[in-house]
Amino acid sequence: MRIWKLACMALVCCALLAGCGTETKQETASATPKQAAPQVEMAVPKKGIPVLMYHMIGVDKNDPNNPAVVTEAHFKEQMKFLKDNDFHPITLQQLYEYMVHNQAVPVRPVVLTFDDGYPDTYSIVMPVMKEYGFKCTVFIPTYDADQGTRLNWKQIEEMQAAGMDIASHSYHHERVNQMGGNTLSSELQKSQDELKQHLGITNEFFCYPYGGDNAAAEAALKKFGIKLAFTMDPGWAHYGDNPYAVQRIWIGNPVDIGNFKQRVTTEQYEQR
Ligand SMILES: [Zn+2]
Repeated sequence: MRIWKLACMALVCCALLAGCGTETKQETASATPKQAAPQVEMAVPKKGIPVLMYHMIGVDKNDPNNPAVVTEAHFKEQMKFLKDNDFHPITLQQLYEYMVHNQAVPVRPVVLTFDDGYPDTYSIVMPVMKEYGFKCTVFIPTYDADQGTRLNWKQIEEMQAAGMDIASHSYHHERVNQMGGNTLSSELQKSQDELKQHLGITNEFFCYPYGGDNAAAEAALKKFGIKLAFTMDPGWAHYGDNPYAVQRIWIGNPVDIGNFKQRVTTEQYEQR
């Protein structure tokens, strides 16, 4: 009887050990690292970060000589320059962590922003962002999306799914520094509500239409949970700058590749 019990115990032990062995193998198998993302060196930028400001890419049929419109060839040349020279387009959240908390970001940082929700942000910009794995932010006046007069919500949702960040460019694209308090609140509320409703985001970033900001607008943006707001004032973004008046670097068609290189490497670039 006793021998039989011992034999049973031995069998149970073997089974347990075998089980453990199998489990270990499975664990090993599932712990096999997937293709690890390449490690990007991080640093706190000493001289600030260039936040590039784009509008339309392609051809403005109504105004073919509009200097704010960047040709597709120029745009692609600029993005290839960033890729070939190991620049790292970062998110607005990363820019915020640097500007407000002096946190490290990937080396050779740059921020890509696209204003107004032109259809070419979908047709030209999105494929390039996907190809290079670049982060960028698109500032949408949400009224235009409601009307389908520029990018519609279906396209914007697709851009978000492709990894592009979407943020507010107000509701009607009117100067928020010239609005009464009630109008201003209503403009911000509608834009925040629609971004939530269509994209499921609690938006924290704002771009002033026509670059117009003032103290009242900044106070209102804070109430609506905005933590960075972008102007059209020229200059790089630095730690300690006012987060409600972030400077940007204009990119228009007179910016050739030599001048572009200056704009992303020094704040003392040649004006065009
Ligand atoms: Zn605009």
